[in-house]
Amino acid sequence: MNTEKLSNRLEAVTNYIPSGARVADIGSDHAYLPCFTVKKGIVSFAVAGEVVEGPYQSAKKQVKMEGLENQISVRKGNGLEVISPNEVDCITIAGMGGALIASILEEGKSKLASVERLILQPNLSAISIRSWLIENGWELIAEQILEEDGKIYEVLVAEKGEPLKPYKNKEQGLLMGPFLMEQKSAVFQNKWHGEKKNWERILLQLEKAACSSETEKRKQELKQKIKMAEEVLMQ
Ligand code: SAM
Repeated sequence: MNTEKLSNRLEAVTNYIPSGARVADIGSDHAYLPCFTVKKGIVSFAVAGEVVEGPYQSAKKQVKMEGLENQISVRKGNGLEVISPNEVDCITIAGMGGALIASILEEGKSKLASVERLILQPNLSAISIRSWLIENGWELIAEQILEEDGKIYEVLVAEKGEPLKPYKNKEQGLLMGPFLMEQKSAVFQNKWHGEKKNWERILLQLEKAACSSETEKRKQELKQKIKMAEEVLMQ
C-alpha cells in the first residue's frame, strides 16, 4: 500500500467521502488516506490525527515527501482532540476495533457539531459502533463488507438523521448490519457462517463445563446469537 494505491479496505472508505469535503482521518498512521484523497482531488483539506509518536512521525514524513503540507495538517493527539470545532465536515476512522472507534466518538462528541458524515471501518465489533450511532442521533446510510488478504472488513457510513430508520429488526441489525443483511453478499454469508460455527463450538464446550449462573447466562446469549444468524442466513 502507498499513496498511489491504497488497500481495497481503505479505498472503500474513500469512496464514501463527499467530493470537496474537509476530512479528519483519525488514527491515520502513514497518512495514506489523506494523501491519496488530496492527490485525487476528492478532498480539499485534511487533518491526519495520530496518538502514537512513531505513526505520527511517519505521517509527517509522508506528507512532507509528497509536498502536501498546505492541504494536510498532521497533528498528534488522542482521538478528536486534534480538530477544532467547525474545522471538518467528514471524519474517517479506520483499522481499529469497533469499541475503540465508539469511544473516540464518545469522548470527542463536542467536535461533531459541524460534521456531516462519519465513515468508520472497524476490524471487529461493528455492533459497538451501530449502538453508539443509535444512541447519538446518527443514521446509518450505507454499509459495505469486503474481504482482503483473508480478513473480512466492514465500512459503516452515517449522517445525522433518524437512527432507527434502516433497522427492520433492531437486534439482528445491530449485530449483522441492516444494509448488509439485505444485500447478503457472499462475504457476508461467509462471515456469519464462520461466526455461527465458532459460537456452536464454544456452546458445546460450555455444555460440558460445570453449571453456574454465569455459564448459563453465556449459553443463553450464544443460543440467541446462533438463532439470529440462522434466521438471517436462511431468509
Ligand atoms: N487508519 C489506518 C488504516 O486503516 O490503515 C491505520 C490503522 S492502524 C491499525 C491504527 C492507528 O490508530 C494506529 O496508528 C494507532 O496509533 C492509532 N490510534 C489508536 N488509537 C488512537 C486514538 N485514540 N487517537 C488517535 N489515533 C489512534
